[in-house]
Order: sequence, then C-alpha cells, then structure tokens
Amino acid sequence: MSNPVVRLAGLTRSFEQGGVRIDVLRGVDLTIHPGEIVALLGPSGSGKSTMLQAVGLLEGGFGGGIAIDGIDASELASDGRTELRRSKLGFIYQFHHLLPDFSAQENVVLPQLVADIARREADDRAVSLLTALGLDHRLTHRPSQLSGGEQQRVAVARALANRPRLVLADEPTGNLDEVTADKVFDEFVSLVRGQGSAALVATHNERLAARMDRVVRLHEGRLI
Ligand code: ADP
Ligand code: MG
Repeated sequence: MSNPVVRLAGLTRSFEQGGVRIDVLRGVDLTIHPGEIVALLGPSGSGKSTMLQAVGLLEGGFGGGIAIDGIDASELASDGRTELRRSKLGFIYQFHHLLPDFSAQENVVLPQLVADIARREADDRAVSLLTALGLDHRLTHRPSQLSGGEQQRVAVARALANRPRLVLADEPTGNLDEVTADKVFDEFVSLVRGQGSAALVATHNERLAARMDRVVRLHEGRLI
C-alpha cells in the first residue's frame, strides 16, 4: 500500500504575544490518504492557517510529527524541507498571490520550470489546465486584467501544475461571491480528483465542506 500523503502526530504550535502564550494547536492528529479531499473546518482564529502552514513546511516552531508521503519532515534541514515542499505540495491562498508582471500562462509555467520541466511541456500543461478552467481566452492576461474568479482559477492551475501529491488550500474561494465560489470550487475538486491528488482545504463554509470526502474540525486546538 502507498504511504499516506500526510501524517500528523501530536502537532503543536504556540505563539507568544505581549508576554502571553496562546496554544493554538494542542496535539493535532491527522492522516490523509492518496487522493482524499479533506475539509478543515473551524471558525476564524481556530488555527486553520497555522495548521496549513505547518503541513506546508513553511515555518518552524512546531512540536510533534509531520510526515509527507512517508518522509519525516522534522528530520530535515531547511533545504530538505524546501525540496519536499516543491516536489510534493501545491498551495492555494484566499488571495491569489500571482506574480503581477507575468501572464496567466506564465504564472502556471514558472513553478514547472523551477521543477526542471522543459519549457514546451510546461507551456502545454499550463494551456491544458487553464483551458480546463475555462481560461483559454485569458492566457496572456496579467492578474490585474482578470476578475477575482479568474485570478483564483489561475491560482488553482498554478497549484496543480506539478501534479502535487497534496494540495493545501486556505479558504481558496473565501474572497469570491457565492455563485463564483461554487463554480471555482467545483472545478478545483474535479481537477484534483482527475489527477489523483489529495487536498486539505481550510474553509468555514459548511456547504463547500459537505462536497469533500471527509470533514475534520478544529476545536480548542485539536481535531474532532
Ligand atoms: P484561522 O486561520 O483559523 O482563522 P489562524 O491560524 O490564522 O486561524 O490563527 C489562530 C490563532 O493564532 C489566532 O488567535 C491568531 O491570532 C494566532 N496567531 C496566528 N499567527 C500568529 C503569529 N504569527 N503570532 C502570534 N499569534 C498568531
Ligand atoms: Mg486563516
């Protein structure tokens, strides 16, 4: 059997602010299997972003175990974590974080070039993803020339470009109106399923959560 894409064991994270310590994650256990799409629910401030940052190996300061695709991330130095992140993970944020001086297509091509994929293949992949997201007529547009929904679609394509084992999405449609959010979310889920990636999607939207394979909730620093 293949490795779980993520295994969290007793994950903890505390912040100190003005001499006061807040324990945001108090022992999070979670296993995500290949291809599984998991909703991470919790009200604002419950620690969803903190947890995604931990799984995304973006920050240190965590306690407990994080394994990505069977590799223990706590054993790795910073460049090892960067390599693991690049080879296994894709990210989508609430605000698109696209590069403003590059076109939609270039924004999807760049992470592939970083992963040593040849330019022509990267272009083909970008066009194919953007076309699947209905953006074949927007390839040369820059982010500022796109609507909010179109920007998030480009962000989806960028996150999936390298066929990550796991996509981490932090309120990916939280900035969109309800109708657009639903459409972009459905397109996202269908692409993720189509390529067999897993996903962990933070949201406070119960309706979107119900469309995923499984729902976990952050409550007082643990998953219930
Ligand atoms: P969510 O994404 O569920 O809204 P967050 O993970 O952003 O929640 O935040 C959880 C808690 O951790 C909040 O109380 C927040 O103020 C605190 N927090 C997050 N990041 C930091 C930080 N860098 N320094 C201090 N406190 C933080
Ligand atoms: Mg958040």
